Amino acid sequence: MKTKIFLVILVSLLVFSKHGISQSLGTNDRLTTQVKQVPANVKTNLNCLPNDPIYTSGGVVSDAEKFAIAMSGVKVSVQEESDFGDDAYAQMKSSGKYQFITSGAQYTALQTMLTDLLKARRKVSGIRYKIHLIKNDEVNAFTVGGHVFVNTGIISFANSESALAAIVGHEIGHNEKGHINLLLTKIKMGNTFIGGFGDIGIALQQTLTPFFNQQNEVEVDAYGADLCQAAGYDARKGLALWKKMSESEGKKNMIESFLRSHPYSKDRYNCLKKHIENNYTY
Ligand SMILES: [Zn+2]
Repeated sequence: MKTKIFLVILVSLLVFSKHGISQSLGTNDRLTTQVKQVPANVKTNLNCLPNDPIYTSGGVVSDAEKFAIAMSGVKVSVQEESDFGDDAYAQMKSSGKYQFITSGAQYTALQTMLTDLLKARRKVSGIRYKIHLIKNDEVNAFTVGGHVFVNTGIISFANSESALAAIVGHEIGHNEKGHINLLLTKIKMGNTFIGGFGDIGIALQQTLTPFFNQQNEVEVDAYGADLCQAAGYDARKGLALWKKMSESEGKKNMIESFLRSHPYSKDRYNCLKKHIENNYTY
């Protein structure tokens, strides 16, 4: 159970292409022309999803559990959430199972990307963020308590700064929009908040339960796109990447863990497309 919950906390991404990399994080495709800024009152229109409970149910925290959490008054502060992320990272590091890259052009460029995206937030949660680069060909990325983990495999797959920024922005969104907090609150209610979770990274990749539902995904797709747009990336490249992932049939084994933790649907794609068309002008 603990393992399952853990998995839910993380999110993943994917990629696999080997050519055309002109910059350390892929093609430099930041926007060079002035584009319409993200409207101050930008809203994610969740009405783009069909009116069917299947889009709002699912994920590791059930509706009944959400209700129980609300009734209990149990809360997880941003401090606790950040501490939890620190613990998870320390645990992954000490396990010796992850090859963290902590220097070099890709590592440095990732730090800059995180900083730029965080600066683009209109509302700041207080969660502490860190981004990590893992040497692993699997197309994946995930997050827990403000820590965002990016595999080298997804950088190659995205092969584009803007597409990668969409993924990082999406992961930030799962934190800023309270999805991770809800999971941690569930853990806290179970009195298993500190320690004893096993290998978080492995748990994340093996879970069979999607962490988030389609409404969660649509919400953070739009959130990530807004961050990208405000930071000067091309949000349309992110849209293309999600599509590419969903169509990578022959590579399913490489991207499976990502799609499992970030359930994808055609509706999700259409929602993001509408969001971009409605709010930005190129
Ligand atoms: Zn997601």
